[in-house]
Amino acid sequence: MTADEKLSLARFLDLATDAIRYGYRSEEREYQFSDDPAQAAVLPATTAPTAAQPAAPPFPDGDSLEQIAAEVRACTACSLCETRTNAAPGEGAQQPLVMVIGEGPGADEDAAGRPFVGKAGQLLDKMLASIELSRNSNSFIANVVKCRPPNNRDPLPEETAACIPFLERQIQILKPQFILCAGRIAAQTLLKTGEPVGKLRGTFKTLRIGDRDIPLLVTYHPSALLRNEEFKRPAWEDLKTLRAAIADQAAIADQAAIADISAPGEN
Ligand code: SF4
Repeated sequence: MTADEKLSLARFLDLATDAIRYGYRSEEREYQFSDDPAQAAVLPATTAPTAAQPAAPPFPDGDSLEQIAAEVRACTACSLCETRTNAAPGEGAQQPLVMVIGEGPGADEDAAGRPFVGKAGQLLDKMLASIELSRNSNSFIANVVKCRPPNNRDPLPEETAACIPFLERQIQILKPQFILCAGRIAAQTLLKTGEPVGKLRGTFKTLRIGDRDIPLLVTYHPSALLRNEEFKRPAWEDLKTLRAAIADQAAIADQAAIADISAPGEN
């Protein structure tokens, strides 16, 4: 094989691995190959990016939620555009304490062009209200894919790969203090893992977007709670974990504010 043929094969294998393992394309790896048949080994280029140097996501200058929503509604980047009625870009508070990320729109969301408005959405609103969160005041709700997969099937890896930049741009703009990941697809996509929700939930993970590390908690999707009551208790435990972290953060902010208040004559 020539060096070009080896490079094409390596890129194809990388793409297939990312699609199977993560659901979308990760940063492109760099290789150096030789035309010499005796030199079969792959030599990573000295400039190859490492895990500590993630590829820069596409965050356009002057980006805004409105711009993203307009792009989403006009998007034809994957085949889901052919069967959608309305895309559901996301909605909620502009500087959210919590960003909730689910899988994708269902039938009700497709009809309304809004995320989480069906039975599962109503349950999500109740779950959030139980820890004083609401899309009307302090939370933003979005999905990994913005258009409905037919018959509510899982999004395909190429669909997730095409759509994830919209979500990353939303996170970059919103700068949520916490992310609540609802369900398997959202959790596995954002955390780039194949682990089940049962193993991912319970403790905070970290999601790095741009130059920020955001605490991320995984829980069950509300539709799973509607199907199986056994998930309600662990989901409530997750909500309490999130509530405690929010309270801790508020206490730290209070202490910082108090420390900033100087007694008269101290300055
Ligand atoms: S799912 Fe995302 S990438 Fe696919 S058409 Fe809709 S907005 Fe575009």
